[in-house]
Amino acid sequence: MESIGVLMTCPMHSYIQEELAKRFNLFKLWHYPSFSAFAQAHAHSIRALVASAKVGVDAATIDSLPNLEIVSTYSVGYDNIDLHKCRHRAIPVTNTPNVLTDDVADVAIALALSLLCRICPRNSTWQFTPKLSGKAVGIVGLGRIGWAIAKRAEGFGCPVSYHSRSEKSETGYKYYSHIIDLAANSEVLFVACTLSEETRHIVNRGVIDALGPKGILINVGRGPHVDEPELVAALIEGRLGGAGLDVFENEPEVPEDLLGLENLVMTPHVGTDTLETCIAMGDLVIANLEAHFLGNPLFTPVL
Ligand code: NAP
Repeated sequence: MESIGVLMTCPMHSYIQEELAKRFNLFKLWHYPSFSAFAQAHAHSIRALVASAKVGVDAATIDSLPNLEIVSTYSVGYDNIDLHKCRHRAIPVTNTPNVLTDDVADVAIALALSLLCRICPRNSTWQFTPKLSGKAVGIVGLGRIGWAIAKRAEGFGCPVSYHSRSEKSETGYKYYSHIIDLAANSEVLFVACTLSEETRHIVNRGVIDALGPKGILINVGRGPHVDEPELVAALIEGRLGGAGLDVFENEPEVPEDLLGLENLVMTPHVGTDTLETCIAMGDLVIANLEAHFLGNPLFTPVL
């Protein structure tokens, strides 16, 4: 497979870069001054594209790669991949579900604990803090990651409720068909759903106000799930108790107004950034590419 051209859209963990380079003819897009400079020289060589949550692939890029056969994203989310175009060109798309679930849930709980218990306060003034144990937890999107957050919250003695497209009665958790009702009945609201046109700004002013001045919002989904200007205003005005964010609406930019807030903790989209998980994600990307080029069934197809 050494002659097969594979294009990576942005830097990822060194493990996947090294393992891909051992097996394929790897092109790193960020080593070129622009996509058009790359495409002029190598567009016809590319048969596979490896994207990530940070840099996906749009319709124009797909159109520029006439021999593209497969897109494999080093992420579970595929909101930044033009699925419509891939479907039209009959290009399969794969992602990396399951292997990252625990890490993202761990980061979600870590954000909640560090915010509530002021683990890393910006100033050293001592004060009493609220506790996480026993708080009413709401989860937006009871999928793989949402479920893993729920299990962890149960360990803290927190009653769990959720909002998803469909009710999952087997979980025993309380289901709300409207997110606003979930927010009104939650003290800590975790966002872990898929990003789509329906879920863009699913956390809007109404949801923030329903959560209220003692409520905590934790977002480990995607930045655009939250109306960020509304969040900033609510945090500044004290209409929301606090927020823990791993993702931002216009990454890597973070609104200036967020930076000095005491009722906010942030991590730079590191939900999956443990060594073990980066290796597992890399292995899954490679397994999917090898399966495709050997004519075998894909391990984790999206399309
Ligand atoms: P998943 O198992 O597919 O779960 C997605 C959940 O979103 C499901 O519960 C689904 O509800 C819900 N959902 C979809 N559309 C909805 C809508 N319109 N309204 C309400 N709920 C809706 O995916 P996952 O593996 O848990 O990953 C979830 C997301 O986490 C990813 O898409 C990604 O954006 C994000 N993520 C972030 C990081 C990070 O580093 N921060 C890392 C990995 C993933 P139903 O079950 O009812 O369909």
